[in-house]
Amino acid sequence: MAKVKVVKSREELLARKYYERFRNPAIKEMLIVKTQIRKAMANYLYNNSFLEISAVMISPETDPLCHDVFSTDFEYYGETYTPTKSMILHKMIAVSGIDKFFCFSPNLRLEEKETADSGRHLFEFTQLDLEVKDAHRDDLLKLGEEIYIHVFTEIKKNCKKQLDFFNRELKIPETPFKRITFEEAMDKFGKNFEVILSEKMEEPFWLIDIPDWKREFYDKEDPKRPKILLDMDLIYPQGFGEGLSGGMRENEYEKIKERIIRQKLDPNDYKLYLELAKLGLPPSGGFGIGIERITRYICGLKHVKDATLFPKIPGELSL
Ligand code: ASP
Ligand code: MG
Repeated sequence: MAKVKVVKSREELLARKYYERFRNPAIKEMLIVKTQIRKAMANYLYNNSFLEISAVMISPETDPLCHDVFSTDFEYYGETYTPTKSMILHKMIAVSGIDKFFCFSPNLRLEEKETADSGRHLFEFTQLDLEVKDAHRDDLLKLGEEIYIHVFTEIKKNCKKQLDFFNRELKIPETPFKRITFEEAMDKFGKNFEVILSEKMEEPFWLIDIPDWKREFYDKEDPKRPKILLDMDLIYPQGFGEGLSGGMRENEYEKIKERIIRQKLDPNDYKLYLELAKLGLPPSGGFGIGIERITRYICGLKHVKDATLFPKIPGELSL
């Protein structure tokens, strides 16, 4: 007798995936590590006089990003809002009154489906976002290193069982972390330097002086070196790739406007922010650390989708 082929709906298949996901012990072990990561980050910041602010989830103006994503604009009483792609504009405004603050902020970036293969992209994710008034880049590099060292040390202390479970040896990197300029990296390893260097390196390292064409308008241009920004990325070793982005900020109205135009963006999309810049924004600097990415790195997970409970995988239906 011929077998009847049962065609399952995609909801049935997906439901089965979630059913199994929460019965696999890896999800809980991962979450124990992630909880400890967030706890260590927050404790470090509380102990260093940072205040915690709430996430801004929607706004008429947000981070333009420097790569294409699908639009998420929606109308509300005749005004156009969008879920925040990052809280950068809000951070630069809030730092006028609050010298040092942080937030675990959820971001929505509707990435193209090809990015799912990078192992590093989700279209909804969380970052530890922070900003510090008057911070120079060296202060930011030092702060970043201190946060990483504190997190790694706490994880080694509190998550021995989980590191064993994931068969992961976590080394505490030496400070200061290596610094490589964008230009040096390009010269030595070519266009694909980030992947090559991340695979080659044994410890996290800084990529600095990322030029304007690779970055958004809000990172500060070095007054002494046109088109070179006072910014940075932190790259994880062993092929885990980029995990932090940030820099000093462009805070003068004329300069911000010029950078928006240079990036071929429309100043009308940043009207409110530009009005605030005209009134005055203080100098500041900050960065964002991807929470799922640091969890992936610490646990040594193949894909960032396993560093969160309900992963939003680019191009896939996700609960
Ligand atoms: N630009 C970062 C981001 O991608 C955040 C920051 O610079 O603070 O969200
Ligand atoms: Mg980045």
